Amino acid sequence: MLQRKRYRLWAMKHNNISIFVTHVGCPHMCAFCNQHTITGNSQIPHAQDVRRICSKALEQIKDPENTEIAFFGGSFTAVPREYMIELLEAANAYLGEGKFSGIRISTRPDYIDDEVLDILKRYGVTSIEIGAQSLNDKVLDANERGHSTLDIVNACKLIKEHNFELGLQLMVGLYRSDMDIELENMEKVLEIKPDTVRIYPVVVLKGTKLAQLFKAGKYHLISMDDVIDLCSKMLYEFENAGIKVLKCGLHASEFVERDMVAGYYHPAFRELCESRIIRENMSNAFRKSGIPIAENAQGQRYHVTCAVSPRCISAAIGHKKANSEHFLKNGINIKVVGDEKLSKYEVEVRDVRVCI
Ligand code: SF4
Repeated sequence: MLQRKRYRLWAMKHNNISIFVTHVGCPHMCAFCNQHTITGNSQIPHAQDVRRICSKALEQIKDPENTEIAFFGGSFTAVPREYMIELLEAANAYLGEGKFSGIRISTRPDYIDDEVLDILKRYGVTSIEIGAQSLNDKVLDANERGHSTLDIVNACKLIKEHNFELGLQLMVGLYRSDMDIELENMEKVLEIKPDTVRIYPVVVLKGTKLAQLFKAGKYHLISMDDVIDLCSKMLYEFENAGIKVLKCGLHASEFVERDMVAGYYHPAFRELCESRIIRENMSNAFRKSGIPIAENAQGQRYHVTCAVSPRCISAAIGHKKANSEHFLKNGINIKVVGDEKLSKYEVEVRDVRVCI
């Protein structure tokens, strides 16, 4: 699966000053959404809040030139126009030399047009993230998004034409989705080629339509293991295509843990996916070296030393030693060493001993 070109992908640290504009512009409630839980916040910010947050952050952050003011919450360009401009004006005063590098917003694809993009450009917005969630019309309908795949494609095209950084947010495992649809979504994202993506496996939250469907037995989730496989493939393919993956998994949150009914929440979800990628690459490297993966008939045990980038050692061993245990069950005792010359996810077999 993961045998592509060698590449180095250590991302430069980028920060956001996050300001949540929860639900203000939402035309209705999408089936999975509870922004109050996700953000742990139900206050609506105004200009004075933006100034207070930005002034404080400017005192505390050492590298504001690598930091954007981010208006998150899902539907920034759908809020009343005067309110949107009030927030942008307040934020714009904190851009420039010695201050922050730009403004990032997230919004719905059906609230993007030339006029709003001109306004965003005027106030110093540099990055626009589109909440796509899925690129399948059946799934978008079933989850009550109120827009189509074509709206996403058109919004992405316009955003690129206006020279903004384009981000796409995906939700994996939504109602009426399946593995094939998710893989098709991945291919469509690769075709759009945004600058960034966020991969959010679904978390079913209390008070949502998805929670009702789940409790009624109408929403059957695919297994966590399959979702990790899927998200690790997405993570790998996007990074390999030069698309920066800003998030893989919902951020660790006491509010999400409190209100979660079902779904794929894990505080270290990205690490689980990175470990899975390396596990795949280990399996491939073992096969190439003639080391059988399946429990072998002679009952032989192999002791294999493999090298990975030093920054990938713990991912190679796996969360709670999951990869070590996986290979042990298959007759292989692994030892992992670091080698600076290796790129992210790369694995080389260095020593093999057969124990009879
Ligand atoms: S997903 Fe976005 S548009 Fe839908 S309810 Fe949530 S914030 Fe609003």
